[in-house]
Amino acid sequence: MPIKFLKEVVFHVVGKPSEDIVNHLDGNKYINEFLIAKKINLTVNQVRNILYKLSDQGVVSFIKKKDKRKGWYTFFWKIEVLKALELLENILHKRITEMHHQIKSRETKLFYICSRCNIEFNEETALTHNFTCPECGGVFDVKDSAQVVKEYKKNLNRLESELKEVNVEVNKERVRIEKIQIRKDKKEAKQKKAARKAKRKATEKARSKIKPPKKLSKKKAKYKPKKKSKSKPRIQKRIKKSFKKKFKKKKRI
Ligand SMILES: [Zn+2]
Repeated sequence: MPIKFLKEVVFHVVGKPSEDIVNHLDGNKYINEFLIAKKINLTVNQVRNILYKLSDQGVVSFIKKKDKRKGWYTFFWKIEVLKALELLENILHKRITEMHHQIKSRETKLFYICSRCNIEFNEETALTHNFTCPECGGVFDVKDSAQVVKEYKKNLNRLESELKEVNVEVNKERVRIEKIQIRKDKKEAKQKKAARKAKRKATEKARSKIKPPKKLSKKKAKYKPKKKSKSKPRIQKRIKKSFKKKFKKKKRI
């Protein structure tokens, strides 16, 4: 991303004095905020405030690390190149639309000027002042807008060619990000495949080690459940029956 574009974005978000911060940020790696502060001669808090504003707009991102001994956090900052470019695209779109409006208004409406004070008025405000200057009392002249329109059109051309350049940069950045993603996906797929293979091998190895003799396992299975669970109630029933018999016999006697 050309630095002039990034400077323009930062200027738009945080103003001219903070523009210098751009020279000490990076689009590929996170930079320690203390380092940035030192380089542009500001306090860490001042730097952080600027960067927070930029991060609200998505122009930068951060990670934070805790200092284990001191217990506070240090922030590390990175430029989000695509987001910054997209923001610039939006800014330029708005400026271009505004310029179109201005040109149309100059071409279709009348403007007035006090030549002495060099103040301009649109038709409505000129009418409310009765076409006389509120400052010096002079009478208004009709403004010749041709020169203004020429300037506006020049400005419009400049904005449109800048937008084209930014569009190119946006596309470049998108392609770059896509390539990185593809590479990452491939790497992950490869790692997953290797992990699955290793797991399969490990289970196969484990199975081959534990091979229980077949006869033993069958016997065990046969011996298991039914007899135990039913034996108790049967015995109890038998006892009950014999008890009843005895009891009956006794009664008869
Ligand atoms: Zn005047």
